[in-house]
Amino acid sequence: MLKEYGILFDVNLCLGCGSCYEACKEANNLPETNDDFLKDHLSESTFTVVEQYGEHFARKLCMHCNEPACESVCLVGAIKKSETGAVVYDADKCIGCRYCMQACPQKIPRYEWGSTNPRIRKCILCHTRVKAGKLPACSEICPTEATLFGSMEKIIEVAQNRIKNNPENYYPKIYGLEEAGGGHVLVISPVPFEKLGYTSDIPKKSMPEFTMQAMEKIPGVVMGGGVFLSAMYWLTKRKNQIAKENNLNSQGKN
Ligand code: SF4
Ligand code: SF4
Ligand code: SF4
Repeated sequence: MLKEYGILFDVNLCLGCGSCYEACKEANNLPETNDDFLKDHLSESTFTVVEQYGEHFARKLCMHCNEPACESVCLVGAIKKSETGAVVYDADKCIGCRYCMQACPQKIPRYEWGSTNPRIRKCILCHTRVKAGKLPACSEICPTEATLFGSMEKIIEVAQNRIKNNPENYYPKIYGLEEAGGGHVLVISPVPFEKLGYTSDIPKKSMPEFTMQAMEKIPGVVMGGGVFLSAMYWLTKRKNQIAKENNLNSQGKN
């Protein structure tokens, strides 16, 4: 069995150079979306961003939750927790219902609004590279180990030691270890995490309540009986409707 891996992001060590952002684009064949990487946002073409908060820089990407709310609401099994800890997806299975977007407590998944066959998109922790024994592109390129990849045991130990050995430089908490039941992207920082735009009001438990909130928005799903088929019918109809709307929109622009 493969080990479970993750990323430790250390705000103290980040130079704000943007190499991780560029490397992610290249590794995932994503187009350029902004001349200034510091002004870019997560999108179907941007799986990670570097944001500036005064003198500090903060990376945002999928947290690869231990019990992903996005996976639990996906009726067609397009999103899966992998054996390495990465939360991956099969774009061919995705029917574009966007319940994962509603369920994610970190608001990570993005949608291909401009496509006639829209899919959900997000960081996959460079799953294919990791399985081939390589580092994630963002971690490989980082010049300072601000983005450090390793086994979960290793990155937790590194995070704990950095905080313990330099208490004056670190806020005494590892973000991502407990939020939403914990995940595979951890953050350490000199300041409280909400000052860097990290969502701070996430319960420590995994997210069944988020799942239910999202599922309740699907007509008939929580009523039991015949549920799955009616939900599938509704979702497929919705996907076709979105594709049709996008077609009409793009024709209107021409
Ligand atoms: S952060 Fe959101 S998209 Fe990423 S695994 Fe967790 S629930 Fe899914
Ligand atoms: S792990 Fe891979 S997909 Fe995720 S942000 Fe880093 S380079 Fe991009
Ligand atoms: S490559 Fe490393 S130092 Fe540069 S912005 Fe990304 S995390 Fe920060």
